[in-house]
Amino acid sequence: MQELAGKVAVITGAASGFGRELAILCAEADMKLVLADRNEAGMATTVEMLPSPHVPVLAVTCDVSRPQDLENLAERTWEKFGAAHLLFNNAGIAVAGPTWTTTLDEWKWVLDVNLMGVVHGIRSFVPRMLAQGGEAHVVNTASAAGLVSPKGSSVYCVSKHGVVTLSECLYHELREAESSIGVSVLCPAFVDTGIAHSDQTRPEGTAANPLSQRYAEQVRRATKAGKLSAADVARITLEGVRAGRFYILPHKAIK
Ligand code: NAD
Repeated sequence: MQELAGKVAVITGAASGFGRELAILCAEADMKLVLADRNEAGMATTVEMLPSPHVPVLAVTCDVSRPQDLENLAERTWEKFGAAHLLFNNAGIAVAGPTWTTTLDEWKWVLDVNLMGVVHGIRSFVPRMLAQGGEAHVVNTASAAGLVSPKGSSVYCVSKHGVVTLSECLYHELREAESSIGVSVLCPAFVDTGIAHSDQTRPEGTAANPLSQRYAEQVRRATKAGKLSAADVARITLEGVRAGRFYILPHKAIK
């Protein structure tokens, strides 16, 4: 998808981190924006940070673990803009702990958001994108933890390996369907965003997340070593979309 101006970008997890940075870059590229997050206040801040107040924006409160929320998001996208050209399935959470201390509620919660959230996005948007025809692109955010299995959180690794596999399957399915929809999967690590610093995504009343604390320390080291920022990740994401190929950050093609 070489030409982005005038196209419609749908971004989940748009209230913070990669989603916010991508929203800013898409606005700079004159795209129309559909922002989705469960954090309404964060989305309002993202809208305030957009470079031009005249960018057409639809902001929808949405919990990606709920299929009906994604269906509502797709309906509202087509009502307002009549199309979607870039779908960024990006919302995600992390919890810490070994397999046996991670509670069943946490297993369900992380898989529902990180993996099923991407499935719900694909199920609600891809049929409509196929029907609209022409070029489009789906970007799913996995993680380096979706390619290797670092220590820290088995449920997070499992969810992100699932997103990588799902993205590869989707790529082949869409080629089989002879569509012009590209698929990319992002696999970054240690980028300074909300997920590294806060426990905001945990249900109220639960203990602090030790993964966040360890992660924050790793982020500090990675940042010192001059690794990527969230804005870099967003820029590389849009480069991947423009190149229109299956693409893993940083620069590992797995086609
Ligand atoms: P972030 O915490 O800054 O942003 C995540 C956003 O997702 C937040 O705005 C949050 O409100 C939203 N969200 C969480 N659960 C949601 C739900 N159920 N429904 C809708 N929105 C929800 O973190 P980020 O780093 O920008 O994370 C974006 C993605 O990148 C995540 O999938 C994360 O796993 C992945 N990732 C991050 C890193 C990193 O180092 N930051 C590395 C690898 C992968």
